[in-house]
Amino acid sequence: MKNNFDIIPPEQWCKCTRPLIIAGPCSVESEKQVLDTAFQLKKIPGVSIFRSGLWKPRTHPGTFEGIKDKGFPWLKKVKEETGFLVAVEVGHPDHIRAALENNIDILWIGARTIVSPFVMNDIANILKDRDIPVLIKNPVYPDIELWIGAIERINNAGVKKIIAIHRGFHSYEKSCLRNNPLWEIPIELKRRYPNLPLICDPSHISGNREYIESISQQALDLGMEGLMIEVHTKPEFALTDKHQQITPIKLGEILNKIRTHKINPQFHNHPDLDKLRKEIEQVDFEILDLLAKRFDLVESIAKIKRKHKLSIFQVKKWEETLNRWVIKGETMGMDQNFIKNLIQQVHKESIRRQSNFPENTKE
Ligand code: PEP
Ligand code: MN
Repeated sequence: MKNNFDIIPPEQWCKCTRPLIIAGPCSVESEKQVLDTAFQLKKIPGVSIFRSGLWKPRTHPGTFEGIKDKGFPWLKKVKEETGFLVAVEVGHPDHIRAALENNIDILWIGARTIVSPFVMNDIANILKDRDIPVLIKNPVYPDIELWIGAIERINNAGVKKIIAIHRGFHSYEKSCLRNNPLWEIPIELKRRYPNLPLICDPSHISGNREYIESISQQALDLGMEGLMIEVHTKPEFALTDKHQQITPIKLGEILNKIRTHKINPQFHNHPDLDKLRKEIEQVDFEILDLLAKRFDLVESIAKIKRKHKLSIFQVKKWEETLNRWVIKGETMGMDQNFIKNLIQQVHKESIRRQSNFPENTKE
């Protein structure tokens, strides 16, 4: 596995300011639709790249699967008449050949394509030593290694203009969002590969235009370097993803409102912050000491259970523990989901210790 990617940052290949803003319709639908959207986007400061899908990966057949090659002349007009760099999604070597023949500036690989190492290999082979930027979305399910593996394949093919896009992860849990952001995954990606540009796609996380602004703000607060947002002149008539697309005017309003951050070293080393960080460090150690104490008690319980051939997991006891945590946590003003996740992790480790399961390992 690579320790580092060989990357050319977007500031060097597009005239973009920070945050990098990519905007445009989910799908190319008609010449008028893409041109109208692009002209309106041109009036919004900060938008540097126009996105739109020609081939749409739809869950069910028989739905609108994209305008396909027919849309190339329309995107050519967008390029010529607005000066935007134009990005399309590619999910197959044939799409890449067509996009390259039609002078598309930037390619992106979608969440459903990233999950297949076979397809990613074929895509990497076609891209070998091409100078075209490639944006790589996270896979639909939360596997950071799969995301990194896809980036590796493209980077190993000699493509250096790469940006990772965080678009959230499929989840069976019910939520108001279409995809679970699982912010810890993009944070971990950035921790491992600080030079890999990382932007957020709040449209596919939200699934609903109501949340675009707050998800965008959260992404920028976490240090993401840009946003890819779906924009349509008439979102309610869009052929795909109509609930999450916003108008160009709305995009302008959101970009005006959201706070962007400058890295200010003086602020980051503020003496008050240093003092508070020291206190947090102390609390962290206390939490670890208490956890160690808890696991010691678990070991004692395990011995008794083994001796008397009692089952390790007792659902009633687990339910009591869970309720105890949730009730106590709530009286202390803590989020219920956070408390549940925390005790679930602690409980999982307790069970693992009692049954001597090996630590989770990955191929
Ligand atoms: C898209 O950007 O329109 C798209 C299909 O995205 P994703 O691959 O994130 O679902
Ligand atoms: Mn879409």
